[in-house]
Amino acid sequence: MKEQLSASACDLVFRNGRFYTVNPKQPWAEAVAIKDGRIVRVGANADLEECIGPHTEVVDLGGRLVIPGIYDTHVHLITAVQYARSLCQLPEPPTLPSVDDCLSVIKKSFEDGSGIEDGWFLGGLWSPFTFGMEGPTKEMLDEIVGDIPAFLMDMTLHSVWVNSAALRIAGIDKNTPDPQYGVIAKDPDTGDPTGYLVEYSAMALVGRHIPKLSLLRRMALAERGIAELNSYGIVGFSEAGSEEADLAALNRLARDDRLNARVLTRSLAVQAGSIEEDLPSAEGIAAVAAKYNTGRLNTFGAKIYVDGSSQNDTVAFLDRSTPFDMPYLYEELTISPEQLKRVVTDLDRNGLPIMMHCIGDRAARVALDAVEAARKANGKNDLHHCITHAFFHSDDDIPRYSQLGVSVNIQTWASTDFDYGAIVTPIIGEKRWKKAFPYKTLMNAGALISVGSDWPCVTASVNPFPGLAMASTRIDPFYPERGVFNEEEKLTMQELVPMLTINGAKEMGLDKISGSIEEGKFADLAVLDRNILECGLEELFETRVLLTLLEGRPVYHAEDSPMLASAEGLKTPEMWR
Ligand SMILES: [Zn+2]
Repeated sequence: MKEQLSASACDLVFRNGRFYTVNPKQPWAEAVAIKDGRIVRVGANADLEECIGPHTEVVDLGGRLVIPGIYDTHVHLITAVQYARSLCQLPEPPTLPSVDDCLSVIKKSFEDGSGIEDGWFLGGLWSPFTFGMEGPTKEMLDEIVGDIPAFLMDMTLHSVWVNSAALRIAGIDKNTPDPQYGVIAKDPDTGDPTGYLVEYSAMALVGRHIPKLSLLRRMALAERGIAELNSYGIVGFSEAGSEEADLAALNRLARDDRLNARVLTRSLAVQAGSIEEDLPSAEGIAAVAAKYNTGRLNTFGAKIYVDGSSQNDTVAFLDRSTPFDMPYLYEELTISPEQLKRVVTDLDRNGLPIMMHCIGDRAARVALDAVEAARKANGKNDLHHCITHAFFHSDDDIPRYSQLGVSVNIQTWASTDFDYGAIVTPIIGEKRWKKAFPYKTLMNAGALISVGSDWPCVTASVNPFPGLAMASTRIDPFYPERGVFNEEEKLTMQELVPMLTINGAKEMGLDKISGSIEEGKFADLAVLDRNILECGLEELFETRVLLTLLEGRPVYHAEDSPMLASAEGLKTPEMWR
């Protein structure tokens, strides 16, 4: 039963708006009244007269569209801010920079000191396409940074570019064997390491020597990142793979009442290239989570990598037309199907909602099998497990999402070719490539779909609006001449906005308190500068958020937004730089 909320003398009343509530019982409204952070009335302007008292702030929205606060269900926040918003920032996609472009940015960042942290030269996120299969070389960096160790992450976070000093610190030379599931690229003539380290286990050989970020630095990065999220209307996010130090930083922000978002963190249960015997126990993950869980911060989440990445050919497909050409990496699955069943069942029993990284159709199948095993062993519960990426599916598996209560966590930028077809078509054939990203089919089969940016992986921003444009047109705005990709899978904006809001809240277990504009829920709202339900592709791209409210409190306002008294002195994202 919904509690009866008193609507007299509200704190804030918005009038003359167009509220797209995503509440099927009352899809549209003109006005909303807020008291103590909650929505207490949703209706027509005239219905809300009684909510206005002598101290009520009344804001005229002038017909602007308001949607529920947005949920980005896949972010790597602290990594994103550290590597994509500070340090040495290499040119971002979609433009593909040349090697010289990258080197001149590195030179400038080294000279002005912006890339130096704790005695290391750090940054990212370069595109593997710039350097080809051999990767970049240590000599390119040595020439610029000399004896300072350098570590530059690629935009997929699956490889790193280091210099001679970094290799020396890590003790890597021509005699160092590849670690399990990783590659130390070596010069075919001399045998010397080239400075290109592929996959987690190889990256970690150098990465573990970089001084750990302090608690204060981590808090500052998180707070800066959340300000950026808020500027796009985002009120909640799921952190897709956290270490304990991140939980500690977010916990401290939450306790200081500085956490301006609802957060679900996911501790790494299975890393790409991890060794089965070294997996943490579900009980251990739950015990760590219990130390940091508080308020808006839910630390009880887990992340599992079920397969790898396409550029390294470690994606698990049901049928392949070509053999693996990188046999030294782990093949296909990161973890055996039987082990995955055990891990998922244990995490589920310990109350941890699981996000599984699956690119290929075989990965998705074994992930669904694992949830099926967990449901059999533990019975039904209200945990929303999800599969993220979910690029390829066998037709047989599509109905299983709704049957098993597994949601699909999509990246809307993966709605068009984005140069990906060239990589996977030789492996799976043209016919199956053309069925990639089947979002409409999944939705029609009853799957709950949420939207996550995966920032900073592949995408340069958490701005959700360009992705909405791509998912609703299936056209790559940077290559419109390529036409529409897999047209039947287009989603309408009426379908996409709920995915962005209530479905994300549901996946994070928050739909009872947030995710729609509904009496009794928290006032988590985004005021937009245009009506995204009616505008065309180009206009959608340019969409700006004017005001973001979390629990009735502004966490972002643009200069031309309807000014709230309570927004006085609010920092804009630029001011966090
Ligand atoms: Zn990710």
